[in-house]
Amino acid sequence: MADTNFDLVVVGGGPGGYVTAIRGAQLGLKTAVVEREHLGGICLNWGCIPTKALLRTSEVYHLMQHAEDFGLTVKDFGYDVKKDRCAVT
Ligand SMILES: Cc1cc2nc3c(=O)[nH]c(=O)nc-3n(C[C@H](O)[C@H](O)[C@H](O)COP(=O)(O)OP(=O)(O)OC[C@H]3O[C@@H](n4cnc5c(N)ncnc54)[C@H](O)[C@@H]3O)c2cc1C
Repeated sequence: MADTNFDLVVVGGGPGGYVTAIRGAQLGLKTAVVEREHLGGICLNWGCIPTKALLRTSEVYHLMQHAEDFGLTVKDFGYDVKKDRCAVT
C-alpha cells in the first residue's frame, strides 16, 4: 500500500503549489501535491505560456502580411490552428 504520511501536503499544482512543494522538498520535508485537474495550473495550461505562444503566432502572421517590406516574396499564407504546434487545441 502506498505511503500516505507526509510532512507537507500542497493543494493545487499551479505555480504557487509546485514552487511551494519544491521548496518543501528541498528543505527535507516529505511532500505531496494534490491537483484536481491539470498539473501546472492556469499558467502552464491556459494563461502565461499558451497566450504567449498565440501572441508569437500573431506576430509571425503580421510579419508575413508585410513580407514585401523586408524584400521577401510570400505567395500564399493562411492560418490553421490544427497545424499550430504552439497553440492549445
Ligand atoms: C490569460 C492569462 C495570462 C496570464 N499570463 C501571465 C504571465 O504572462 N505572467 C505571469 O506571471 N502570470 C500570468 N498569468 C497569471 C498566472 O496564470 C497566475 O498568476 C498563476 O497561474 C497563479 O498560480 P496559482 O498556483 O496561484 O493558481 P493556479 O495556476 O490557478 O493553480 C491552482 C491549481 O489548484 C488546483 N486546485 C484548486 N482547487 C483545488 C482542490 N480543491 N483540490 C486540488 N486541486 C485544486 C487547480 O486545478 C489549479 O491547477 C496569466 C493568467 C491568465 C488567465
